[in-house]
Amino acid sequence: MTTKRTRVRFAPSPTGLLHVGNARTALYNWLFARHTGGDFLLRIEDTDLERSEVRYEAQLLEDMRWLGLDWDEGPGQPGEPEVGNFGPYRQSERLALYAEHTERLLAEGKAYRCFCTTEELEIERKQAAAEHGSQVYSGRCRNLLPTEIEKNLAEGKHFAVRLRIEDRPLRFHDLVRGPVEFAAETVSDPVLVRSASGVSAGIPVYNYVVTVDDALMEITHVIRGDDHLSNTPKQVAIYEAFDWAVPEFAHLSTILGADRERLSKRHGATSIATFREMGYLPEALVNYLALLGWGAEDGKTETFTLEELTRAFTLERVTPSPAIFDFEKLNWLNRHYLKLAAPERVVALTWRYFADRLPAQDAATGAIQDWFARLVAVFAPYVDCLEQLPAKTAFVFGFDAEAARMSEENAEVLAVDSAQTVLGELAGRVRAHTGVVIPETFKVWMNEIKAASGAKGKDLFHPVRIALTGAHSGPDFDKLLPLIEGGAVLGLGIASVRERVERFVGV
Ligand code: GLU
Repeated sequence: MTTKRTRVRFAPSPTGLLHVGNARTALYNWLFARHTGGDFLLRIEDTDLERSEVRYEAQLLEDMRWLGLDWDEGPGQPGEPEVGNFGPYRQSERLALYAEHTERLLAEGKAYRCFCTTEELEIERKQAAAEHGSQVYSGRCRNLLPTEIEKNLAEGKHFAVRLRIEDRPLRFHDLVRGPVEFAAETVSDPVLVRSASGVSAGIPVYNYVVTVDDALMEITHVIRGDDHLSNTPKQVAIYEAFDWAVPEFAHLSTILGADRERLSKRHGATSIATFREMGYLPEALVNYLALLGWGAEDGKTETFTLEELTRAFTLERVTPSPAIFDFEKLNWLNRHYLKLAAPERVVALTWRYFADRLPAQDAATGAIQDWFARLVAVFAPYVDCLEQLPAKTAFVFGFDAEAARMSEENAEVLAVDSAQTVLGELAGRVRAHTGVVIPETFKVWMNEIKAASGAKGKDLFHPVRIALTGAHSGPDFDKLLPLIEGGAVLGLGIASVRERVERFVGV
């Protein structure tokens, strides 16, 4: 038995940024294609000319590439022609093809011209709603005589093209939900081509063009968000009208916020571009998106590389229950991948967040590069995403001594009798010292100061920490001192240990 090569597509509309819902759809299609050794197509659904924008398309392609979701057919690299034998892959370039198919349906009597005006339809809709609660089209133009049609056309009346739906249930199989059935009347006679003023052939609607494209591009599995579930019976009716094989469908559940409302901007970042801006790694996002509605067979593995996902992914394990977007889990995964990432990659990604403190990476001296790499290595393990690093490391660059002394917690530490003795002892040693203070020297000093002041533990270390960092907790002195002392000699305006201590003695 030969099984048909699988072909799937991701069909975004370039009307906004790629958000997590669509990115998950793209990922599941990609994983399914790669797992089954099939083809993954990218088709741009830009028939909504008013809302489609070239910049959104460019961003979309960039986001896809960034996530590592390459396509076998679709638009090419920037400036390159598209790839694949089933193009064009932009719907705006396929209008003649749709018109041809419309002619065919009209000629075969599978579709008809509807001359009803918007006003007439509105009156009809209101009447129907009042009488029996249903708002379906009455089918008034279904059986117009050829002479009536000719007359209307001769008078230049505008018309929409509607599909003639037979009165029988519309059924399809959904790989996530099982068998699905819609009564014919819930679909009525759907419009395929909108009535338009000025042009005889109007604009074909989404349900129509998507079906023509999926059929002509020989798509075997339609994997998409469940907001399209109610569109599917109309699409099935179109396949049937053309005598085309109906593909398999897989409708993915809605993504919700923690409050179980549909995920939206008010829950936080939702676009891939924003997550990227914030310093999330693509492997973390891909891993997280994969888990939004799919789970490993063992029910517990949570970290997957794209290769591991490709091996493990099947549609059978996709759940129909809504997925809750959990920012904490995404953060956890991002921290996981930040730890695994090559240090120089993390450094390169982080540089841009320090544009107001450091020269650009390629303009920085080797010494600054080394120092910054050290800074990132020390602090990256403590952030969820890289954009948090400037705030996390701000005290290394400098802090307001006055404000640090006044903060309630710090004031309490500094008010302890031994605090000034400790700081005075430290100041004496730094003043007498030449060159940078290295951790080994510092350690010796702290032991001496302990003996001289009688302070130990918190009383010994907290005043020193406050003087050096503005807070009583933070990384080990071993890690901290090279950053402070190293930074001070680089001409970045960073105060040395000595300057820091001076601000806290005798005040
Ligand atoms: N352009 C549609 C969307 O972005 C595609 C839906 C489909 O996959 O059929 O929602």
